Amino acid sequence: MVQTPTQTAIPAFQKTLGQPLSKTPISTLQINLGKKCNLACTHCHVEAGPKRTEELSPEICAQLIQVIRTFPQIQTVDLTGGAPEMHYGFRQLVAAARETGKDVIVRSNLTIFFVPGYEDLPRYFAENQVRVVASLPCYLEDNVDRQRGTGVYQDSIAALQRLHALGYGRDPALVLDLVYNPPVPRNQDFSLTPNQAALEQDYKAYLENHFQIQFNHLFTITNLPIGRVKNYLQAHELYEPYLSFLAAHHNGKTVPNLMCRNQLSVDYQGNIFDCDFNQMENLPARTPDGQPVTVQHLLEANSLDAIKTVATKPYCYGCTAGSGSSCGGALS
Ligand code: SF4
Ligand code: SF4
Repeated sequence: MVQTPTQTAIPAFQKTLGQPLSKTPISTLQINLGKKCNLACTHCHVEAGPKRTEELSPEICAQLIQVIRTFPQIQTVDLTGGAPEMHYGFRQLVAAARETGKDVIVRSNLTIFFVPGYEDLPRYFAENQVRVVASLPCYLEDNVDRQRGTGVYQDSIAALQRLHALGYGRDPALVLDLVYNPPVPRNQDFSLTPNQAALEQDYKAYLENHFQIQFNHLFTITNLPIGRVKNYLQAHELYEPYLSFLAAHHNGKTVPNLMCRNQLSVDYQGNIFDCDFNQMENLPARTPDGQPVTVQHLLEANSLDAIKTVATKPYCYGCTAGSGSSCGGALS
């Protein structure tokens, strides 16, 4: 347990870096297809849930397919939500990306496999060699059900077993990664996200021994103080202390690998952000002359690299604290 430092003013993230955070050539297109989800987890920064209706329109989907086909520099198309599988355009985007030889990531909550109408997803993923990145915030049942809802753990295990039976975690072409989210802090005894390599070994041993499940990588992701986490922290007077804690543990070695540098994050309306967190906080990416960017603008400019610097906020310390955090896990 790392003790909270004495609270001081939180320096601007850019001031700590000593310069604006620069973009590098874009190689990942992350698309948030919308906010519908069959779950409503306490840590959800998207504030997704079954009652949300926002989703990709046919027009924006067509533009995104054009982007995927136009720019060979995109190596990875990363599909998220909500539950991305529930939204308009999901399979069309997978098809466009696979046809153009790109890797496809789907950020799946696994329990969607048991929602009527989605039972074929595991086979569909395998047939299209979709890389599955699946939330499993702990390998123990109580912790998962507390964060995600009663019964979610058992459904998640059953879903992982279905993926495993199809070859996921064993066949090199069928990659299965799991995501660990720490619980939302309940008091000022904040902790850094646990060591990713050590926790991966614990997950692997437990899931293999108890359920004969194998997987590839574990990604540890820090809870950023935005969305439902921010609301909770503010209600318990923990928001400023948590930000101070993250800032006090800033690790400059993580900065070269921040995911916002080489990715574009697109919302269901076609607006461009540097990352999903900025998307949820409505902090758009801008060109050097201050213009926000849309998918349509990318197509008109025939370039993915019009954005030169990343828009940052104090919650960025959540990505650089300790070993760092990103959609691909720890950074250093
Ligand atoms: S499964 Fe994911 S998108 Fe859905 S509510 Fe939970 S964290 Fe949010
Ligand atoms: S929240 Fe993280 S990924 Fe997003 S802009 Fe800040 S440092 Fe980059």
